[in-house]
Amino acid sequence: MSTTLIKNAKAIVTVDNSDQVFRNANMLIKDHQIEYIGMEDKEADHVIDASHLFIYPGLINTHHHLYQTFTRNLSQVQNMELFDWLTTLYEIWRYLDEDSIYYSSLTGMGELLRYGCTTCFDHHYVFPKNGSENFIDMQFAAAEKLGIRMHASRGSMSRGKSDGGLPPDDLVQDISIILEDSERLVKKYHDPSQFSMRQVALAPCSPFSVTTELLAESAVLARQLGVRLHTHLCETKDEEQFCLDLFGQRPLDYMESCGWMGEDVWFAHGIHFNDDELQQLADTKTGVAHCPASNMKLASGVCRVPKMLELGIPLGLAVDGSASNDNSNMMSEIRTSYLLHRLHYSEKAPTGYDILKIATRGSAGLLGRNDIGSLEKGKAADFFAIDTSSLEFVGADEDPANLLGTVGIAHPAKFVFVQGKLVSEDGVLINIDESDVAANARKKVDEILSKAGMK
Ligand code: ZN
Repeated sequence: MSTTLIKNAKAIVTVDNSDQVFRNANMLIKDHQIEYIGMEDKEADHVIDASHLFIYPGLINTHHHLYQTFTRNLSQVQNMELFDWLTTLYEIWRYLDEDSIYYSSLTGMGELLRYGCTTCFDHHYVFPKNGSENFIDMQFAAAEKLGIRMHASRGSMSRGKSDGGLPPDDLVQDISIILEDSERLVKKYHDPSQFSMRQVALAPCSPFSVTTELLAESAVLARQLGVRLHTHLCETKDEEQFCLDLFGQRPLDYMESCGWMGEDVWFAHGIHFNDDELQQLADTKTGVAHCPASNMKLASGVCRVPKMLELGIPLGLAVDGSASNDNSNMMSEIRTSYLLHRLHYSEKAPTGYDILKIATRGSAGLLGRNDIGSLEKGKAADFFAIDTSSLEFVGADEDPANLLGTVGIAHPAKFVFVQGKLVSEDGVLINIDESDVAANARKKVDEILSKAGMK
């Protein structure tokens, strides 16, 4: 057994049920759990002086495409909206291989970690015909190497161009292959136990890249296996029109007809729901992953977060894929969300603390977890610290709960713990040789872009 004491923290923002913020308090970690938070002094094997630190629960990212870290900042797609952006990028993504999945996962999750994100959900859905059999295995290997908690998904595409879909025919797979691999991955990696480091969800990509049969079959299989369901929904008006044209239904009605409503389902984006649909989401406890930076970059629209909060719709925060962000930084995402909603909703906008809650407790709920997302006795020891002693925080000490939204944090966390273990300190990832990983990752980026004729 090992114990660590976060001693005399300047503030501990617990994000617990009563929104407690402790001042000059101690937090004791025993192995992988939080043992105590409060004013009592405690003995421990390791003691960290936190008198200049604000402590927060680890942030939880509920939607990402890690492979896209290799297709960021491309001038060719800079001013496109979703459908054109996708059809251009498919031509690069077709060259993904195991190494590019491994190194893009290390790159994206490495960035997430050092900016305080301790759990990452990834939605991988591009499986080229040859050599893609172990993509999700490679992602779990990268997560284990970094020490981050990971929820991966077996994403999929089954509706190619010739079936009216958006992706090229050679990037879609047969339903039988998808379902078989989904079952394999759940059996191999999904650990539903408390403090689990690995879980798996089933995640067909979107209504415009997946057949109706795959959506319905995935829902049946996920429920048989006891795992969650995820997809993109109501991201753009183009998607809405696609559903009306092809299925004669609005996107949410279509998903409901495929069995995709309920506490075990969460949708990425959720921008273009009407009032009745929001009520349906609330009634069925179907969740939404809010991705503000991506929605702004692709000019998709503004998620109706104030209304969703009012109705009690389960809501999490996410960076989305790096090709539409172009970062993997949850702290930055909190500030982006805060400012976006201030601009759009003025006095009805959520506070900085409301967004922090969405990025922690809210996100944990979408992933079906009650052991992460807040700092409380018995929860997993996933947390990060912000050093407030530097110049940019002078005058900003009064309200640690709102700080990430209002002031924003432009540098990595002082330290990050996952499952009671130090994984990042002063921006240095403890478990990898960053220069080595960056060199290998760059080689893969060059290789893929060259193959695609983009370089
Ligand atoms: Zn996405």
